[in-house]
Amino acid sequence: MTAGVGTRTVPYARCHIVPEAHEAVARVLASGWLTTGPQTLAFEDEFAGWLGAPEAVAVSSCTAAIELALRALRLPPGAPVLTPALTFCGAVHAIVHSGLRPVLLDADEQTLTVDAATVAAVADRVRPAAMVVQHMAGYPVPVPALAEAAGLPAGRVVEDAAHGLGAAAGGRLVGAASTAACFSFYATKNLPIGEGGAITTTDPDLAGTLRETRQHGMSRDAWRRYGPGAQWRYDVRTDGLKANFTDLQAAIGRAQLPHLASWQRRRAELAARYDQELSAVPGITPPPRPSEGRHAWHLYPIRITAPYPLHRDALAEALRGRGVGTSVHFIPVHHLTYFRTLLGAEACGRLPVADRVFPQLLSLPLHPGISEDDVDYVCDQITSLARTGGDPCP
Ligand SMILES: *Cc1c(COP(=O)(O)O)cnc(C)c1O
Repeated sequence: MTAGVGTRTVPYARCHIVPEAHEAVARVLASGWLTTGPQTLAFEDEFAGWLGAPEAVAVSSCTAAIELALRALRLPPGAPVLTPALTFCGAVHAIVHSGLRPVLLDADEQTLTVDAATVAAVADRVRPAAMVVQHMAGYPVPVPALAEAAGLPAGRVVEDAAHGLGAAAGGRLVGAASTAACFSFYATKNLPIGEGGAITTTDPDLAGTLRETRQHGMSRDAWRRYGPGAQWRYDVRTDGLKANFTDLQAAIGRAQLPHLASWQRRRAELAARYDQELSAVPGITPPPRPSEGRHAWHLYPIRITAPYPLHRDALAEALRGRGVGTSVHFIPVHHLTYFRTLLGAEACGRLPVADRVFPQLLSLPLHPGISEDDVDYVCDQITSLARTGGDPCP
């Protein structure tokens, strides 16, 4: 188990599209119907069925899903919405684009998600109108407990489940029993389509609203206007986005979905192998595991602290030189110029855990396309760099 330096390339991510998807796309291309239509309807049913959710509405991205779910709440302009600080910028843009005001929550030192005590303390101060929660890296957050801590009904909590596909909490898969759980089918996510998203909901009225607002607020989508037995007339009852899902995406998704369960098992195996090999390296902390429920293993973010001899950036650079791709999740949103300017420097000084943890975080390659040997190689490099201290910094 001692691979040499530079003997291997382990890409951070690689989008795997199954061969059946190629054929399915070719059939859709030949069918004469490319946009939202019968494939999308079938994908929605199959995706909801996989999760055990009553309904799924497919949209153009998880970012659009979050925005549509927030807009559907019809909150007054500028109303405060809680969001983790350690999250993807798109999830916070969605709050801003909905005309609402993001209020950042600090991370929990242990789980890197938000904890109920932090939520309760901030909620006490700002009286939030809604909250976005995030299943960071695939660690399932206890949504009902966080809603209660925020003093919000379940219907005012939007789940950013971009990392949460396949995670379980409270005996259900994430998104199975949610008012609004937003998923991503972006190229690196657990069910890759390339681009796309979906909202699962237990609320049929919300599903109906989302089917209109994903497409300009039109009461009847193109399939229902031009498809079999169609009628041209439609109304626009509400403002909407152009955020629909295409039948090309749906065809890929339908071909990918039957593989998701085995991909999830594979991610869990690889994560366990990383855990085993890295837990003995002083200064390397594997990602936290939930005491109950199931992790989705979307990411494998380690933390690097003393006595490990290299700083995160130096380790990332040394690994890159040895053929290993890595990433960082996330740059806290208040470190990004736009949000820093929007929220003010003062809001950014009160997020000490996110500030402290961010320079320690490094996500290692974790996807079904890597092998045990790849994991061993990555761990060998991290272990040997601990001994040698790596190459001198340039
Ligand atoms: C990827 C991601 C998103 C955005 O997903 P898109 O489908 O690309 O819009 C949102 N939140 C988190 C946590 C993500 O990782």
